[in-house]
Amino acid sequence: MRSSDENARETQIYQTRDFQRADGTAGKVGSFLVGDDTGIVRIVCWGNQADILKQLTTGTPLKITGGMVRENQRGYKEVHLNESSRLILNPPEQVPGVKTATRKTLKELTESDEQVEVLGTVVQVFDPKFFEVCPQCGTRLKEVEGQWVCDEHSALMPDYSYLVNVFLDDGTENIRVVLFRNQAERLLGKTKEQMIAYRVNPETFEPLKTELLGEQFRFVGRAKKNTFFDRIEFIANQVHKANVEEELAKVNKQ
Ligand SMILES: [Zn+2]
Repeated sequence: MRSSDENARETQIYQTRDFQRADGTAGKVGSFLVGDDTGIVRIVCWGNQADILKQLTTGTPLKITGGMVRENQRGYKEVHLNESSRLILNPPEQVPGVKTATRKTLKELTESDEQVEVLGTVVQVFDPKFFEVCPQCGTRLKEVEGQWVCDEHSALMPDYSYLVNVFLDDGTENIRVVLFRNQAERLLGKTKEQMIAYRVNPETFEPLKTELLGEQFRFVGRAKKNTFFDRIEFIANQVHKANVEEELAKVNKQ
């Protein structure tokens, strides 16, 4: 873990959520994505730092000092802010613009692609997968002798995180898109509570699998090689319902 200073722009805000620590005290965490001319990183705000999310709008220039850099389980870098970190909105210095995502067809994707945009039709939707995470730090929990444990926090009632896989087709190729937590919620138009309910009653998810078929989406994210299946997959970090007229206008301009 190292300390980080960062000048960037806000690109996407997620919800703040409250949680209870093992000792019963209340905690709070919120996160958002920022980008600069090199790429996108997730900023995780703990405690009172989470209040700053209320002041953010897309494109807000900001400066971060004293954040801690961690790599999350999906291989993405995250910057965690605690009480001693500083987040300054609209700093006096010049802040670079966000690197825009490069549009690629699914066939053009290569395993090192980051910050790319793909557009296609959902042709298959799979059941959500759930996994136990630490309610305090969000790390995936390990089961040890029937107890869910986090390396840093103990005696836990696990929280649940989830992912949804879909197959996307754009006429050039058909690939699997992996949507974690917030992205799964955006794709399905569901809240965290609704997602968690599918874990207990998986049969209630069935109608969604057909409702989404034929819907067009635009995803921004990165390509990743699935070595087990020897194929490229796409990990989405932004989900947008495709605007068909907008897309046709783009094609006509080319
Ligand atoms: Zn933990």
